[in-house]
Amino acid sequence: DQLGPAEQGRVISRYGQHADVMSDNAETFRCHIRRNINSLVCGDRVQWRRATASMDGMQGVVEAVHERETLLSRPDFYDGLKPVAANIDQILVVSSVLPAYSTQIIDRYIVACEDIGIEPIIVLNKTDLLGDLDEQQQRQITSSFEHYQRIGYTTLKVSSTTQQDLTPLMRQLPQHTSIVVGQSGVGKSSLVNQILPQVNTHTKEVSENSGLGQHTTTVATWYLLEEEGALIDSPGIREFSLWHLEPERVAWCYKDFRPFLGGCKFRDCKHKNDPGCALQEAVEKGEVADWRLQNYHRIIESMNTKKPPRALVR
Ligand code: GDP
Ligand code: ZN
Repeated sequence: DQLGPAEQGRVISRYGQHADVMSDNAETFRCHIRRNINSLVCGDRVQWRRATASMDGMQGVVEAVHERETLLSRPDFYDGLKPVAANIDQILVVSSVLPAYSTQIIDRYIVACEDIGIEPIIVLNKTDLLGDLDEQQQRQITSSFEHYQRIGYTTLKVSSTTQQDLTPLMRQLPQHTSIVVGQSGVGKSSLVNQILPQVNTHTKEVSENSGLGQHTTTVATWYLLEEEGALIDSPGIREFSLWHLEPERVAWCYKDFRPFLGGCKFRDCKHKNDPGCALQEAVEKGEVADWRLQNYHRIIESMNTKKPPRALVR
């Protein structure tokens, strides 16, 4: 046969019928994907074989996919959930001092992370710009950001420009497979460039083309870090949408709400002017931040208006 013995590897990126696979000693091979494999994404661990003779430009064949620890999907208006990256165990949710810091947006990302069972690390970038804001704005940002830590999340304040506090961020990465998400302009590419200086040109190219639809066509790519760990760079999944989630699920994804959800009088409690709502009571007692509950309601309301026609949700 023209194939070597079975080996284990990692899918670095997938292009239609081909995939780049990294071998155990960190070499990359462009491989065919066997037809019986119906789903293969960046980050998948696979069984593959090297080509020992010429195989129309291909250097091997992927023949099996190992079970995934996690799967990150991009909600797609037409296709439902589209798998994009496998085996991620950490998501860096990046926000910034400017443009507009918004806990509502941070909450949306956290909900998406909680839903798929991946730990979010909440990053506030551009702290060098805090001094440009008036004291009240500064206090608002710092106190709400610190609240995320109080409810049990890892939070990091950094500046990719001055490189302030990038070391604690880098310390979060070994032993994990991470991905960076966040709104446009918060500094994701800048941070990825700090983490992966060797792929500078790739991320630059993408950010310069943003707004031209480039984001969705750029493939997710898996990068090995120097200290045992990996970063998946995927411009296409830096923004999530949540319309596929039910309100009850969104409430559960607010982990500070969880202790109170069982105490609401009615099972379908909307947690808004409902009699016997344990969550509203918790807010009154100061056990849950009022802005977290307000953000929850805004998320639910935005889902009601932005939901695609039922027939398109599979
Ligand atoms: P992305 O759209 O999230 O990938 O954001 P970019 O990395 O392209 O950054 C958007 C803009 O913010 C660029 O002009 C960056 O130079 C700037 N930027 C990124 N990080 C920082 C920072 O820590 N401080 C300041 N002042 N600007 C930053
Ligand atoms: Zn309630």
